[in-house]
Amino acid sequence: MSDIIQLLPDHVANQIAAGEVVQRPASVVKELLENAIDAKATTIKLLVKDAGKTLVQVIDNGSGMSVTDSRLSFERHATSKIRSAEDLFQLHTKGFRGEALASIAAIAHVELKTRQAHDEVGTQLIVEGSEVVSQEVVVTPKGTSIAVKNLFFNIPARRNFLKSNQVETRHIIDEFHRVALAHPNIQFVMYHNGSEVFNLPESNYRQRIVNIFGAKTNEKLVPVNEETEVVKISGFVGKPEYAKKTRGEQFFFVNDRFIKSAYLNHAISSAFEGLLKDSTHPSYFLNLTVDPQTIDINIHPTKTEIKFDDEHTLYAILRASVKHSLGQFNIAPVLDFDR
Ligand code: ADP
Ligand code: MG
Repeated sequence: MSDIIQLLPDHVANQIAAGEVVQRPASVVKELLENAIDAKATTIKLLVKDAGKTLVQVIDNGSGMSVTDSRLSFERHATSKIRSAEDLFQLHTKGFRGEALASIAAIAHVELKTRQAHDEVGTQLIVEGSEVVSQEVVVTPKGTSIAVKNLFFNIPARRNFLKSNQVETRHIIDEFHRVALAHPNIQFVMYHNGSEVFNLPESNYRQRIVNIFGAKTNEKLVPVNEETEVVKISGFVGKPEYAKKTRGEQFFFVNDRFIKSAYLNHAISSAFEGLLKDSTHPSYFLNLTVDPQTIDINIHPTKTEIKFDDEHTLYAILRASVKHSLGQFNIAPVLDFDR
């Protein structure tokens, strides 16, 4: 009998992990923007070319990395954000898996430039398909720039599977909106093929929503504010007449992280019961702040799903507070719809 099991080489393991973390250019956008936020940047620039198929670059003015850290950042399970399993339940960062950069570098050409405030010069690293191609000393502003070129260059099947530029750009803008809405106190700028698409100045939540979705949005926002022992809710719902046929502007953030939850979405729809015309969906921009000990976000690599200890209580509080806010704004059920 012969032994047949082998440990996969790192670059193969990274490429497999990349399949989960990076589905499309928008996944790279999300991971890089989140890293910039974790680095405490106050200004974050996103540069995209050809819907991210040629280039996704994020430039931040955050902490930067030391020479050693810049090398380590591309290793799998290498992170500065947690040290033990217990830390998973007191997370104050977006990242913690130490997987994104290793995954991205396995399937793209990556150019990193980074400098910490107290260093005179920075580091430039070029990594292609998990291979460090060069490492040099460079003059670069404080912070980090990561350029991801030719995504899926070594996985043609994956590259061919990408959708039209229009569809991929939509996905990128969706991610950009989610991150920008979660962090109104950070300036975000986005360029596509050299032209500026968004320039969102540092502001408050209402202003950020208006800057993204247009001045008309302002008068349509109904504030929601609630604080109980289990959750703090803040944000806005759209007045019923702002409801849309398509599920467009529906944003839930839990501890500043965009989350998809059909269950909590239902809590909102049911608070709108009797207020909406048939087959329209309410808009909402809601932030839930909970004790990190009461949630588990480590259930999916992209972290857009979450497990709450007590989902039922959250549902009830959310529904009641939205109902209350709608009531305060004298939005009574409309019985006679003008169809
Ligand atoms: P994670 O975010 O889960 O820690 P990543 O692979 O995304 O894993 O990043 C690995 C590490 O590289 C981070 O923990 C952080 O220390 C460092 N890093 C990545 N991006 C930046 C950045 N923009 N600024 C400073 N440090 C960064
Ligand atoms: Mg990360």
